[in-house]
Amino acid sequence: MIYDFLVIGSGISGLNFSLDSAEHGTVAIVTKKELMESNSNYAQGGIAAVLDAHDSFDAHIADTLTAGCFLNDVEAVKLMVTQAPAQIQKLIDIGVGFNRKKEDLSLTQEGGHSARRIAHAHDATGKEIERALIFQVRQHKNIHIFESHLAIDLIVKNNACQGAIVLDTEKKHIEPFLAKATILASGGAGQVYERNCNPRVATGDGIAMAARAGAEIRDMEFIQFHPTALALEGKPTFLLSETIRGEGAILVNAKGERFMESQHELKELAPRDIVARAIYEEMKYGPVYLDITHRESAYIKARFPYIYDQLWWYGIKMDKDRIPVAPAAHYTCGGVHTDLHGQTNIPGLFAFGEVAHTGVHGANRLASNSLLECMVFSEQTVPTAVAYVQHVGSVEHVEIDSSNTIYTETNVRDIKKEIQQIMWEHVGIIRHKNELNDTLQKLQAIQDTLNTLQKNGRDEMLIETKNLADVAILITKAAIERKESIGCHFIV
Ligand SMILES: Cc1cc2nc3c(=O)[nH]c(=O)nc-3n(C[C@H](O)[C@H](O)[C@H](O)COP(=O)(O)OP(=O)(O)OC[C@H]3O[C@@H](n4cnc5c(N)ncnc54)[C@H](O)[C@@H]3O)c2cc1C
Repeated sequence: MIYDFLVIGSGISGLNFSLDSAEHGTVAIVTKKELMESNSNYAQGGIAAVLDAHDSFDAHIADTLTAGCFLNDVEAVKLMVTQAPAQIQKLIDIGVGFNRKKEDLSLTQEGGHSARRIAHAHDATGKEIERALIFQVRQHKNIHIFESHLAIDLIVKNNACQGAIVLDTEKKHIEPFLAKATILASGGAGQVYERNCNPRVATGDGIAMAARAGAEIRDMEFIQFHPTALALEGKPTFLLSETIRGEGAILVNAKGERFMESQHELKELAPRDIVARAIYEEMKYGPVYLDITHRESAYIKARFPYIYDQLWWYGIKMDKDRIPVAPAAHYTCGGVHTDLHGQTNIPGLFAFGEVAHTGVHGANRLASNSLLECMVFSEQTVPTAVAYVQHVGSVEHVEIDSSNTIYTETNVRDIKKEIQQIMWEHVGIIRHKNELNDTLQKLQAIQDTLNTLQKNGRDEMLIETKNLADVAILITKAAIERKESIGCHFIV
C-alpha cells in the first residue's frame, strides 16, 4: 500500500494534520505506542491566544520575542499569534471542553505573559485536546492508524522522501511504509536528560532520523528546563504547571524565604530559564519548595484536580503542604528546520510541532505557545503537502537494503542511562565551556558502539538509544558553537 500522507506521531500536531489532509487523500498514522501516548497528552497549563478585549496581538508577539531573546523568526511569530484565536475556535468546534467563566473562556496566566491569555481545560488541557482529536480521527475512513509502530529511518530515494522503514513492536517485524509525502510529527527529545518530565516516547527520533537523511537541523542548544518538577526521592519527575504560579504560588528556599523577588521584576512568573537557574542555584543550599497553601483549599482542588490527585498519591496535600521542586528538561526549542509551510530542505519531507524548528521560539519558548504552534503549523502545512502529493502523482516501488530490516533483541539500558547522565551533568542547565569537547568525544564513542551493535539487527531499545545518542551529539555540538549565554543556553 502506498499512502498519500505518512504521518509519524499522534500528538496534537500529527492528529490535527491528519484530520485536515484526509479530505484530500489517504493517511497512515504510525505511532510508537498507543494513539494517546505523547507529550501532548501530558500538557497541563493550556494554549495561548489573545481572547480578551484588554489583550492584543502586539502584546503576545512582544512577550514571545522577549522570552525568545529576539532570536525568533518574527514572521513565524506573527503568523502563530494572529492565527491563535481561530485555532481555539477550531478546537471548540471539534468538541474541546475549555473551562468557562459564564459565556467567556476562563483565561489563566503563565510566566512571561503580560496578560491572562491561556485557555485551558482544568489542568489537563493536552489530554482534553487529544481526546477530541482522536474521536474525530478514529471515525475518518481515509485515516489508517498503526499503533505500536516505530519509524526507524526515512526512505530517501531520487532526492525525495518516499516514506519510512517501520518496526511493528508487537509482531517484531520491520517493513517499509511508502508514501508520497512523509510528515514528521514525532515530538521532542526530553528523554536525552536524566531528569526530565517527558513521557518515555520523547526520544528525539524524528530529529535523529531527519539529520541522518540530510535534513537541516537548527538551534538544538536551546533545551528548555521547566523550573518546577516534583523532587521527591523515588517518585516520578511529575511536572507542576506554571499556572500554579500563575494562580499565586510562590517559591521558597529551605529557610522558608521567598527568593524570586530579588531575581526578576516578574518574580515567580519570570521567563522559565531565569526561574530554573534561580532554583538550581538555591538548591546548592537546600531543597526548594512551591507553596500555594495560602489559597483556599476548595479553590485549589477545583482549579488543579489532576495535579492535586497525583500529588495526593505521592503523599503530598497541595492545599496544606509545600511541594519539593527542582528543574527538569522539558521542551526542545530547536529541531528540523522548516519554512512557514512545514517544508524541510528534503522534497517530500514535512515537519511541525515540537520536532520542528520554525524559528517561532527563538532562544526560549514562551509558556503555552507550543500547543498553539502545533495547531497553527500543522494546519499551515496541509495545502503545501496536498499540492506536493498532487504534483508527485505516484511513487515507484522502492528497494530496501534487507540488512536494514533485521530484528534482534538487545539490552542497552545502561548505555541509555549513561547518555542521560552525561547530558544532565555536562550539557544541562549550566554548561561549562571547558567540558563540552570532552563530553562530545564521550558521546561519539557511545554512538560508535551503538552503530556497531545495530549491524547485527535492531529492536526498540537500541533504535531509541541510538537516536538519543545522535540527538545528544547535535545538542552538544550546538552548545559548543554558541559561545555566549542566551535564553535557555547558559554557558560559563
Ligand atoms: C508535562 C508537560 C506539560 C506541558 N504543558 C504544556 C502546556 O501547558 N502548554 C503547551 O503549549 N505546551 C505544553 N507542553 C509541551 C507540549 O505538550 C508539546 O510541545 C506538544 O504537545 C508537542 O506536540 P507534538 O504533536 O509536536 O508531539 P507529541 O505530542 O510529543 O507527539 C509525538 C508523537 O510521536 C510519536 N513518536 C515519536 N517517535 C516516533 C517514532 N519513531 N515512530 C512512531 N511514532 C513516534 C510519539 O509516540 C507521539 O505519539 C508540555 C509538555 C509536557 C511534557
